[in-house]
Amino acid sequence: MKTQIEQLQEIIDGSDSIVFFGGAGVSTESGIPDFRSVDGLYNQKYDYPPETIISHSFYMRNKKEFYRFYKDRMLFPDAKPNAAHLKLAELERAGKLKAVVTQNIDGLHQMAGSKEVLELHGSVHRNICLRCGKVYDLKYVIDDPDPVPHCECGGELKPDVVLYEESLDSNVISKTLHYISTCDTLIIGGTSLVVYPAAGFIRSFRGRHLVLINKSATMADDEAELVINKPIGEVFSQIVVR
Ligand code: ZN
Repeated sequence: MKTQIEQLQEIIDGSDSIVFFGGAGVSTESGIPDFRSVDGLYNQKYDYPPETIISHSFYMRNKKEFYRFYKDRMLFPDAKPNAAHLKLAELERAGKLKAVVTQNIDGLHQMAGSKEVLELHGSVHRNICLRCGKVYDLKYVIDDPDPVPHCECGGELKPDVVLYEESLDSNVISKTLHYISTCDTLIIGGTSLVVYPAAGFIRSFRGRHLVLINKSATMADDEAELVINKPIGEVFSQIVVR
């Protein structure tokens, strides 16, 4: 009887057309909590639920409070890629992995060396002036002492992150659908698949191997060839790229 890691290794060995689809669980092992998680201190610090603060209309009417939450709960400038990010980059370099699709906004896949990264929800590493369109990096936003970071032209900055009430970038969606519908192996990790539009993307998969790696059960467990209920970094650290 093969172990689950051995089964995953066999699938990866036999495929040169892998796509990885990842959620918040991929970054938790890098010390980045899901911003939706509400801890004991939360209600003392914020008057609104996270989904309200991270919405387009809230950003437009209260940028100061938006940035207070955003800088406190969504920016982790010292986070480093974990074993999952590093192994995925290695699989891409070996010509086996075609793309990483991520719901995370932390840029850790690129930091690990991945090239083809589709960021469904944008990135904290790009911050755009609402007046002139100039783009600033994360350090600029963190170092700006004002409650609302400003461009040198005086315009206010908005993170290139998809807020609630905003739609996903159609170019990113069509590339994602292309990769998922043409890949041979789809590995989904660190997501319970309840967040739109993850569940819908999986329906376009036509390949041979569907693998789910998540700490808890997901809605697609019945459709998968292999389900591993373990932390994703722990799983990928045991995979050999050859
Ligand atoms: Zn500007």
